[in-house]
Amino acid sequence: MDYIRGNYSMVAATATLPADRQLYFIEQAWISFYAYMNNDLVATGVLFFLIHEGVYFGRSLPWMILDLLPGIFGRWKIQPLKTPSLKTQMECLKDVLVAHFLVEAIPILAFHPLCQHLGISLDVPFPNWRPMVLQLATFFVFEDAWHFWFHRLLHSSSYLYKKVHKQHHKYAAPFGLTAEYAHPVEVAITGTGTVGAPILWAYFFGNIHMITIITWVVMRLLQAVDSHSGYEFPWSLHHFIPFWAGAEHHDDHHRLFIGNYASSFRWWDYFLGTECKTTVEKRSGVTTKKTL
Ligand SMILES: [Zn+2]
Ligand SMILES: [Zn+2]
Repeated sequence: MDYIRGNYSMVAATATLPADRQLYFIEQAWISFYAYMNNDLVATGVLFFLIHEGVYFGRSLPWMILDLLPGIFGRWKIQPLKTPSLKTQMECLKDVLVAHFLVEAIPILAFHPLCQHLGISLDVPFPNWRPMVLQLATFFVFEDAWHFWFHRLLHSSSYLYKKVHKQHHKYAAPFGLTAEYAHPVEVAITGTGTVGAPILWAYFFGNIHMITIITWVVMRLLQAVDSHSGYEFPWSLHHFIPFWAGAEHHDDHHRLFIGNYASSFRWWDYFLGTECKTTVEKRSGVTTKKTL
């Protein structure tokens, strides 16, 4: 079976699929989308923008609904006395939307030329899941380290804290929408850690596909929104993966303003002694009554 390779709107080179392999629906949709857009730069920009908005707000919505039903879900709220009102959530939503359109649209649209320069693949079929898993795990570890050190810097410098990071700490009891409520400089720093991971991989090792980068961005967005959700469940991921940070870890950071600087994992704060007191107590089995 012949299929289009590479730059769908401009190149019509073909290659052949193995006889036992059909293109999956998502691969056909991928080709159709790029062909329909007829401009790869705009297509990649639009794709990233739609995925970013869709995942960010789509994932924040269930957390908003939970906050509107404290009678049912309040027992899992980490700071139940500080459940945000709908008005507070709407104010945050408006600010985040404005920031997304003004601040983030430009780097999102400039992403495709960089990908082309680094030879990031747009081809179908998509890569095998095994190298994807290795790449995604590497991105998580890299971004977490980046986040830990820059976040720690934003707290250790009173100038940077006041001028940049203070905005993100407006909400001492975070909720999903607050994940990207931050000063543009902070958005640029954290965004560089997220996008920089696959860029560095492409630069040093090559052999990376755009679908892997999209998967990574989706996973990172889900991690960011969930860690700001303000909810801790018995089935939350860190109960099964002890080094996963989760919502409780970051909620303590927002409440106490110091410690727990990493994004996805607990190891940096654990080994460098920057954990919040409450995180250490919880791990030691000291239970604090919910009076927050
Ligand atoms: Zn902070
Ligand atoms: Zn935060």
